[in-house]
Amino acid sequence: MEEKYDIIVAGAGLSGSLAAAVAAKSGLNVLLLDRNKPEVVGKKTNWGWVCGDAVANDHLKFIHEKLGLSFGSPELDYKVEGVVAISPNMQHKYRFDGEGYTLDRPKFEAKLLQMAIKNGAHYVPEFEVESPIIENNFVTGIFGKDSEKRHKEYKAKITIDALGIATSIRRKLPQNPYVDRDVDINDVESTGRYIYHFDLERDDINYYDPKNALIHLNQNISPGGYGWVFPKSNNRVNIGIGVQKRSLDMRNQKLGTKDTLHTLMDEYVRSIPVLKNLKLDPQDNNGKGYWSVAVRRQLESLVFNGYMGAGDSMAMPNPISAGGIGPALVAGILAGEGAVGAIQDGDVSINGLWRYNVAFNESYGKKTAGLEVFRVYLQSLNNDLINYGMKMFLTADEANDLSYGRVPELKLATKFKLILQGAQNITAFSNLIYVVKKMKELNELYERYPKSTDGFVEWRRKVEETVHEAKSRFPPNPL
Ligand SMILES: Cc1cc2nc3c(=O)[nH]c(=O)nc-3n(C[C@H](O)[C@H](O)[C@H](O)COP(=O)(O)OP(=O)(O)OC[C@H]3O[C@@H](n4cnc5c(N)ncnc54)[C@H](O)[C@@H]3O)c2cc1C
Repeated sequence: MEEKYDIIVAGAGLSGSLAAAVAAKSGLNVLLLDRNKPEVVGKKTNWGWVCGDAVANDHLKFIHEKLGLSFGSPELDYKVEGVVAISPNMQHKYRFDGEGYTLDRPKFEAKLLQMAIKNGAHYVPEFEVESPIIENNFVTGIFGKDSEKRHKEYKAKITIDALGIATSIRRKLPQNPYVDRDVDINDVESTGRYIYHFDLERDDINYYDPKNALIHLNQNISPGGYGWVFPKSNNRVNIGIGVQKRSLDMRNQKLGTKDTLHTLMDEYVRSIPVLKNLKLDPQDNNGKGYWSVAVRRQLESLVFNGYMGAGDSMAMPNPISAGGIGPALVAGILAGEGAVGAIQDGDVSINGLWRYNVAFNESYGKKTAGLEVFRVYLQSLNNDLINYGMKMFLTADEANDLSYGRVPELKLATKFKLILQGAQNITAFSNLIYVVKKMKELNELYERYPKSTDGFVEWRRKVEETVHEAKSRFPPNPL
């Protein structure tokens, strides 16, 4: 049996529900599919809605501007003033200002779904998407199993892949030079988090800050990643770590240990001495979970013939912070707009869909793509070098600039001279200068993102060459 739509959106998470809301608003015939039951929409895995749930207010404003949808209590669970990153020895901090929220994720997802349905999307829950349907090198729909485990096919002019990092669509696309089917394991963080009720034993904003989302850099406890303590309402906290598998293996080998993500998560929780009487939050059965986040630049092309991707399916999270909520929201909206435009113009080939590549790059992608190189550099520094670097190399303002892909050249050169005089950690510092140069090259390349498929393959070759060079220079070195 087969049904036909203008647009299929696969996955009713953040990016999917927004793409469906935008596309359906234009009057097109939109199908929104997801494996979850409606009452647990957006649940990523059996573990729940596994996430730190921190999002900057700017991204919520973007949704409001585009869809007129505003947020408040209860889906915005707790307001924070910014993010504070703390060095391994706890002595140096970078503050990243900017209001944001920790979300009540189940309620937030439910609100986005309601918007999609209200705008006219046809929502089919409990549907497992197994594969794209490919005809003449075009994605012409998907097949999978419905709630009764019956095989079912849906056809559409465009399929939007919003299935998250484990997507069963992108991985089964025909081989093509535009959208990668696989993501390198070294570009993925294994992550886990708890949501706990707690009592605060004493005030110490290095460990729990009611006004800020805290990030702890520590290559011993979270090799190749970081730990976080994000405040939530009613004496609750979202606490977790991310690790790079390769860094974890190296660390274990050096220490002769067999630590895993799970043991390190518990070690991290124990290392936060101010949180006492921890009890898992039973709400929505969402207290503990594990999942993965890609921390590379977003896939170079987000479109193929009849196919678009948004959010984690396209490796969109920020390479340094792993923040993927913002880009998933932005991409969901832009993918919806791009799909509508392509259908109106009668061209759903990669050429007709390319406008979305350009729009995402302008709105978001070009700002963060260069950060992949910075992430690789960070993963090559041990705790001593991170401590030293946060003290000597970068001021908080410069770190803030870098996190937006802006490059503070002159001040770096001055500091290079200072460090030369002290003759300490010259290599790590000259490596930072190299990284800044590579980031600048990537920024420039992304400023020249191809306006059409013409020249894309050559542009992509240059991007890959630049990233590859940095990766060869900086193997992970956690201890
Ligand atoms: C532990 C952890 C902490 C994080 N912390 C933060 C943070 O604090 N801030 C931040 O900005 N980002 C964070 N992220 C990243 C963020 O969670 C993701 O970037 C975001 O959820 C991406 O949204 P999405 O809509 O692309 O995909 P998802 O949220 O993964 O949604 C995909 C949807 O598709 C459904 N689905 C998947 N496969 C199928 C299938 N085969 N058939 C049918 N349905 C399917 C899923 O059930 C789900 O509903 C974190 C991630 C993790 C794992």
